[in-house]
Order: sequence, then C-alpha cells, then structure tokens
Amino acid sequence: MKPIGIGKKIYDLCENLYPICRSITGEGVRQTLSILQEHISLEIHEIPSGTEVFDWTVPKEWNIKEAWIKDDKGTTIVDFKHHNLHILSYSIPIHKKMSLVELKKHLHTLPAQPNLIPYRTSYYQENWGFCLAHEQYETLKEGTYEVFIDASLESGHLTYGEYFIPGKTKEEVLFSAHICHPSLANDNLSGICILIYLAQYLSERDNRYSYRFLFAPGTIGSITWLALNEAKTEHINHGIVASLLGDGGAFTYKKSRQETAEIDQVAAYVLKNSGLPYLLKDYFPYGYDERQFCSPGFNLPVGNLSRSQFGSFPEYHTSADNLKFIRPDYLAESYEVYLQIIKVLEANYRPVNLNPKCEPQLGIRGLYKAVGGYKDQQSMHIAMLWVLNYSDGSRSLLEIAEKSAIPFDIISKTAKLLEDHQLLSSV
Ligand code: ZN
Repeated sequence: MKPIGIGKKIYDLCENLYPICRSITGEGVRQTLSILQEHISLEIHEIPSGTEVFDWTVPKEWNIKEAWIKDDKGTTIVDFKHHNLHILSYSIPIHKKMSLVELKKHLHTLPAQPNLIPYRTSYYQENWGFCLAHEQYETLKEGTYEVFIDASLESGHLTYGEYFIPGKTKEEVLFSAHICHPSLANDNLSGICILIYLAQYLSERDNRYSYRFLFAPGTIGSITWLALNEAKTEHINHGIVASLLGDGGAFTYKKSRQETAEIDQVAAYVLKNSGLPYLLKDYFPYGYDERQFCSPGFNLPVGNLSRSQFGSFPEYHTSADNLKFIRPDYLAESYEVYLQIIKVLEANYRPVNLNPKCEPQLGIRGLYKAVGGYKDQQSMHIAMLWVLNYSDGSRSLLEIAEKSAIPFDIISKTAKLLEDHQLLSSV
C-alpha cells in the first residue's frame, strides 16, 4: 500500500471543510474550527458583537438555514442548498414576491464567465442577494418571483481559533489564515489546511521559536486579534499570511512592509533554491491580513506567501475555485516550501567569532579531520573560512550563505561544528 502523502492529507481536510457555509461570523466558522480541533488543540475565542476593535466594531453574527427563489410556477430556480455561493453572504432575512425587474437588483452574475457563480458579500451594509450563473440569469422570464431567505443577523460573537506552541525562546513566528470564505477551495481552504499540518509537525518537536497560528475571519478577525492582543505583538519576530496554496501557479512572496526583514530574506532564499517558479513582490497595502499586521502602528515583519496571486486567476472568487482546482501535489509542494522556510528560520542566527584576531588554527583543533566525513572536504574548509571571517555579529548565517554562494545547510552545519569547538557563539 502506498503511504498517504502529506498532499493527500491536506487535500482530504480541504474536502472535509469545503461544503461548510462560512462567513466572517456564525456557525460555519465554529463548525470549521471544531473540525480543525480534531488535528490540533486549537483554542477557540468568542468575541461579542459590538466589541470595539480600533476603528472597527465586531459585527452582528450571521447565520443562514435556507434560501431560494421560485418562479411563478412554484419551481425553485436558485437554491442555497445546492451551492453556498448562491447567497450573498450576510443577506438579511426576507420572504417576498416581486417582479423580475425588482429581483434583478439583487442578483449577481459574471457576464464574462457565464457558467460560474460569483462569490459576493455584504458584511457592513444590510442587504440581501443571490449569486448565479449568468447563463441562467439570461433565461429568466418576466413574471412574479418568490424570494425566501431564512437567515439571522443578531447580536452574537465573532469566532476565531488560535494555537500557540511554546519554544525555547519567547520570540514568535506567526502564521495566519483567513477562515471566512464559504465553498472556495484555493481561497482559502488550501492555506488553512497547510497551516494545520505545519502546526501538527511543529507541535511534535522542540523548536527554538514559539509558534502562533491564527485562524480568523479576514480583515475583522486580524483587526480583532491585534486589538485584543496588542502586548503579544512585541514577540512576533517573523510571520507569514498563508493563502492560495493549492493551485498550480508560480509561488508569490509578498514581502512584509519592512521589506528587508529576516522573513523576507528567508522566503526569498527558499524560493530561489526550490527549483520552482516564483515571484517576489514588494509590499503593497491591499491583499489579505498582512494589511493589518503591516499597518504602520504595528509594522510587523509579516509577509504573504501564496501561489497564484489573489484576483489574478479566472477561478478566483467563483464556483470554479473548487476541489477540482486544487491538487494534492501542489498542496504538498506548498507545504514543503513553508517547511523549508521554518527550517531556515530555526537555524539562522548572527554568529560571533570567538577568535577574531587572525585565523584560528583549524588543524590543531582537529577541524580538518572533523570535516573528513563530508563528501566535499575542500568546500567545508572554505565554508569555515567564510563563517569565521563574517561572524562579526552583524551578519546572519543566511547572509553568509548568500555572500559565499554556499548552501545554507552547509553554512549552518559548519557553524555548529565551530560552536562545538568554542570558536563561534550566537550573539
Ligand atoms: Zn478571498
């Protein structure tokens, strides 16, 4: 029997979560988080509607049971039961008969992609609506239509999940994914499910860094977390917002607003050495939750790592972003890139040469012999010279690797050897 690869496991979790109707609040989010709890011991937080979070207020909680449109023969022509995207997210309840002209004011379609259902929301303006394929919209005839939405928009809670893994240091790496989208696979079940398996991996190890995973609704969720946890942000040394990781597009790393943060260097290094196509982008103030983490009052070193960029692929925010659009092999590749970033972060530091005046004698310390086990003794020797010379506390091992064009793992192993021989220390 073939072992189940990580890509298949991540895909299966996406498949499990795909049918749930999520929004920025409500039972769909709770149900999602409770499935995630089967994998990691996620802490669930419930923040009451009306809570002030910086310039925003936690909204009313939205839940939906049923929604449909019937024509004058009583035939159901659009039914939320068939696709979560049929309902405008945060639609208020309604039960009314109306003309086609009136109904059309509340219908959303994609004329340029006539067979797809669009994804639309109206979180902050009370409204109702349905989304459908434009080709169906065009078949609608004059007549009286009956519209029914059994939804509630009431004082309740905003729900988010958090998982913290303490490390040897208080310094933290933050991983965040938005959990507010209904049946859309790449955006962002792919991000959520990759983070779950990374969290599981890290929870089984002793890590240098502490790791914080956030699963919160987009925008309002990260704003809420930042407002309620401002003191914790001082420990966030690195972070990535995870999204759009299951499609076959080139990787896109959007740098943090700092642009030269260690996470920006590490992500660029890992992508460059992955052998996979990728793009590096400077920070820009739209996109996902990096907008909040990188707002000027926080300016945290948090980037965004996706494959195809948001809004850039035809399936984006449509019914075509489904389980056929994402693939286990792409998810596995994305997971591997995230894992490599973690490995480089864990091993990277700014070393100091403890014998900085002229070169130390490597021979008498047995360091020539020590590297004898390596395939390329000559290159280990060269690596030692690079590490010793540039370990002045101002450069990281990764920067030495970049400067010397020697792979990071060789530089890292070399530094460990020099540490063992009391020639090197971390700052
Ligand atoms: Zn989206």
